[in-house]
Amino acid sequence: MPFRPLDELDDLDEIELPKPLPLRRICSAKACRGTARPGGRHCLACHARAVRRYRDRHAQQLVTRRRDAAALRDEATRAADSARAKLAMALRRGTMRRGLCQICGTTDVMGVVEDPQRWRDVVWVCRRDRDVARERQVEAQAQLIASRERAAWAEERTRALAAIELLPPDERARLEALAERGPAGMRLSPGAPLYVMNLVRAYKAWCPLRDAAPLAP
Ligand SMILES: [Zn+2]
Ligand SMILES: [Zn+2]
Repeated sequence: MPFRPLDELDDLDEIELPKPLPLRRICSAKACRGTARPGGRHCLACHARAVRRYRDRHAQQLVTRRRDAAALRDEATRAADSARAKLAMALRRGTMRRGLCQICGTTDVMGVVEDPQRWRDVVWVCRRDRDVARERQVEAQAQLIASRERAAWAEERTRALAAIELLPPDERARLEALAERGPAGMRLSPGAPLYVMNLVRAYKAWCPLRDAAPLAP
């Protein structure tokens, strides 16, 4: 085989490598040549058969487990389950009919029951729009909590700073010395957000001690 001259080596980059063979795992059931499910040992058909066999063999156990889980439900879960069951029954009997998705108008909808007591006031929505709504709800909840925390901190800070103003100068100086201590030996200047946070923290930690042992007049 002739060698390629060295100055042609750069062209090697342009040589297309053969595509790797697609990996195909074979179902591990005896005498089955099907393709294994992603992440599983068996092909789809063998997997379904195995699940069915497991359910048949453990039917009694599964019923007991389901009954125990149902008995342990809390009041809210029980009410929601019951509302869902009533809705399913009404749909089966034809006394209620599915509506269109509230958002996009598709017919492929699921019923969302907001208040189990009024399960007939069901909101019809497709799965995708339900997920979007849920995500928005979670986001709004997180923002609400964050803003409440901010407001609580602002109130706490105002109250603590006002109380610190009224302290005798030597006590105030002690708290201010604590507040100056930044991370890694850094010295914080008054007005730095971390300084204010330290000051409020120091005051809150020290206040109960002071009240417990009042200074002698
Ligand atoms: Zn198989
Ligand atoms: Zn929709």
